[in-house]
Amino acid sequence: EHTACRIAAGEVIERPVSIVKELVENSLDAGANIINIAITGGGIEAIEVVDNGCGISQEDTPLAFQRHATSKIKSIADLNCINTLGFRGEALPSIAAVARLSIKTRVPENNMGYHMVIKGGQVLRKEPVGCPVGTLINVQDIFYNTPARRKHLKSKSTEGGLIADMVYKMALIRPQTRFIFSHNGREIFRSPGSGNTLDVLASVYDVRTANMMLAINNQEQDIKVEGYISKPELSRSTRQQITVAVNGRVVRSRSINNALIEAYRGKLTAARYPVAVLLIWLPPDKIDVNVHPAKMEVKLSNEEHLQLLITDAVRRALRETGL
Ligand code: ADP
Ligand code: MG
Repeated sequence: EHTACRIAAGEVIERPVSIVKELVENSLDAGANIINIAITGGGIEAIEVVDNGCGISQEDTPLAFQRHATSKIKSIADLNCINTLGFRGEALPSIAAVARLSIKTRVPENNMGYHMVIKGGQVLRKEPVGCPVGTLINVQDIFYNTPARRKHLKSKSTEGGLIADMVYKMALIRPQTRFIFSHNGREIFRSPGSGNTLDVLASVYDVRTANMMLAINNQEQDIKVEGYISKPELSRSTRQQITVAVNGRVVRSRSINNALIEAYRGKLTAARYPVAVLLIWLPPDKIDVNVHPAKMEVKLSNEEHLQLLITDAVRRALRETGL
């Protein structure tokens, strides 16, 4: 029952951006290389994510909405060995519990797809439907039955901004996937899906930013750090443009940010923070992703070692350009 406790602590759909992150991570797990994200009213009114991934079979679609039915976790030991982005089978049931969720999904082996509508955990519709291979999930009436959470939301523009930032970060760490993002019917971002992070940096920020980046790379035993950091003449007044991923998942980590910033000490002239995309790879048993309910804040064992690796990689890259 311990596993259940830790799982229960895990999944909280806090705000629209949590829904977007869960849906897009599922699309990535499904092997999609095109992910279309469309939101209305800052994601408070509607969120739609369409992917060209593997889809879900008709038999499995209802299971995907049952808590833990699809969870790959079998014991407490497995909690320490989380390799895919999803692992608890909780996101879809949690979203369907607090909103109206419509899914259309098809696997390549079938020429028909399957459609379900679930609201507040109740199945309103289920029927075969014609649709392309992949998955479309539309979420509306978000928090209709949890007024406390609804009241907690910020303005449409703030919630929409949080979603845009999350989409940018996911696009930056997955350059091989094409992300298309629109708000209120207007496309506001598209990544090329070329596999080149510099191309994504140019599309998220601008070409000048992309041209001011330096590649970094460092590895020691089973820890690897790679990505891009900005030359010191490019700096920003917030940490917003620092993107960190651990094992392919966007995370927030104060200690990783600090290690990066430390390496620039005395070098940034205009503002306080660099622009960066840091991809960190670690053995799964060195991460506890369950620290923050929405899986954003990670805790790592042996953080000092990772910090040294990051600082060293950044300093080396800066030195090589004569800085
Ligand atoms: P988890 O990702 O932790 O397994 P979720 O509740 O997020 O749990 O998703 C439940 C299951 O539904 C997944 O394990 C996967 O099998 C399936 N699924 C969800 N979204 C997609 C998708 N976009 N494409 C294919 N399968 C999906
Ligand atoms: Mg998931």
